[in-house]
Amino acid sequence: MFIDSHAHLFKKDYAADLDDVISRARDAGVDRIVNPGTDLETSREAIELAERYEIIYACVGYHPHEAARCEGRALEEIEALSHHEKVVGIGEIGLDYHYDFSPRDRQREVFSLQIDIARRRNLPIVIHTREAEEDSLGIVERKLTDPNRWRITPDGGGEGAPAPRGVFHCFPGDELMARKVNAWGFYISIPGPVTFASKPEKPNLMAEVAAKIPLDQILLETDSPYLTPVPFRGKRNEPSRLPLIARRIAELKGVPVEEVGRVTSESVRRLFGTGIAR
Ligand SMILES: [Zn+2]
Ligand SMILES: [Zn+2]
Repeated sequence: MFIDSHAHLFKKDYAADLDDVISRARDAGVDRIVNPGTDLETSREAIELAERYEIIYACVGYHPHEAARCEGRALEEIEALSHHEKVVGIGEIGLDYHYDFSPRDRQREVFSLQIDIARRRNLPIVIHTREAEEDSLGIVERKLTDPNRWRITPDGGGEGAPAPRGVFHCFPGDELMARKVNAWGFYISIPGPVTFASKPEKPNLMAEVAAKIPLDQILLETDSPYLTPVPFRGKRNEPSRLPLIARRIAELKGVPVEEVGRVTSESVRRLFGTGIAR
């Protein structure tokens, strides 16, 4: 009924009770979970979990926070891991100028190199961008228009790399930015903060965007263990909380929650491909 398109089931957070976390997710109607890595170690962990639990799928990649630690053959390893049958995307990757845990030029370089991996492997990308929207969109846009993009050759064959496709997770932008990335074929993904109260002095921009953007451009995510929705704010998050996000979006759009589940699950399957079985 629901797919959690982005949840980090890190060992450090869930080692003690992962079986329970998974069964609570199933009981809540969450029948697929996409678990992105944030570096080599957690990408390998994500694959291990995908092997152990049928409902889990993995993405592999270096988060911008870890870009400074992405050295040597790390990206070759990421590309090798991407051949695993339950790896459905490259992520999470992107830019984070809020925390600046890695130098910005290295963040941009690692982001760009991983988009190239995704294109070679014809996999979608899962983008994290925080206070770096201009640069993040700029890098994606350059890849969308680069001369090596896939094209049909005079003999009727093809050459070049496919255009990037993917999702901007924990969407930080306004309606205009959402429509721009939607026009590129990218989805936006909405986590728990959509349930937070909107106050006159601090309007909930994410809720405004979720209300205005067509449902078929939106994915649902918990971003577990972070971004816990109301009324559990402050606690460790987990995929079983996804229906709270779906219900809030249903409310904002005036549609049944079942429709939110159905349409967003279709989109996850379309984006991440046949790797996510029905
Ligand atoms: Zn993120
Ligand atoms: Zn994340």
